[in-house]
Formats: sequence, structure tokens, C-alpha cells
Amino acid sequence: MTPDSVDDLYEQAVHEPAFSNSDEGYGWMDNWCDRCVHDKSARSKTEVGPGCPLVLVALMGRRPMQWLDGPRDQHGRYSIADQYHCIEFRSEDDGPSPEPTPIPTPPGQGELLPREPFEVVRMLTPLPNPAMAEVA
Ligand code: SF4
Repeated sequence: MTPDSVDDLYEQAVHEPAFSNSDEGYGWMDNWCDRCVHDKSARSKTEVGPGCPLVLVALMGRRPMQWLDGPRDQHGRYSIADQYHCIEFRSEDDGPSPEPTPIPTPPGQGELLPREPFEVVRMLTPLPNPAMAEVA
């Protein structure tokens, strides 16, 4: 996760609570964090770990910038499970590594620019939610 410091994540976060009440918070985390590798240690009975730092930021009263708004209908309504789309989400079923692996530069390929400064958080565009289209 970039950055991996809770203090930095907290500083970057939006200065407003992520959820209006605990039902919203737990409903969203049930859908996202309960199957994400970044929070696996927090729910494991055998692993010991701190859990996801983004969840900690939310529990401290700020909305992580990695949580993009999920689909809204024309009235601004959203489903609790899809209120945000977390761009750091990695499913436990994604494979052995929780981190995305950049495609290596092919052998003999010249590079005009160093890659490292540009390997940052991916910004994904959320897809329309068909369930919300039925509500509209
Ligand atoms: S990375 Fe996102 S989805 Fe995964 S545990 Fe953290 S907040 Fe939840």
C-alpha cells in the first residue's frame, strides 16, 4: 500500500467521517474488507497483525483518499455495500502476492524515464452498478 504509514494515510485523508453511523461502516466493510488481503491478519485466528491501515484511518474519523465514491443514482442514493470503491482492495483469491506486480521492462528495452516515481496508487473508474439502475 502506498504510503504504508498510518500517519501519512491519516494526513492525506479527507477531513470528514467516512460513514454516518456504524451500520454503514460495518455494512461496507463486510462487503470489502472481509475478503481483502490487507485486513486478513485482523480477522485471522492464526495470524497476528495490525490489519488494514485504511480501516484504522476511518476509525479515527477521516475518510481515506483511497476510497472513491461508489455508484449513486440521480438522487445521490447509494447502496451501503458499495458506498465506496477502495482502490487498494485485493481479494484473497487474487493470487499469492497482495501487491500488484508491475510488468517488467523487456530485456534490451530502453527506458526514457525511470519507472519508480510513477508506480503509485492506481485510480480505477468504477463501473455502473446495474442494481442501482433498477432503483432509478
Ligand atoms: S485495502 Fe480497502 S478494502 Fe482492503 S481492507 Fe483496507 S480499506 Fe478494506
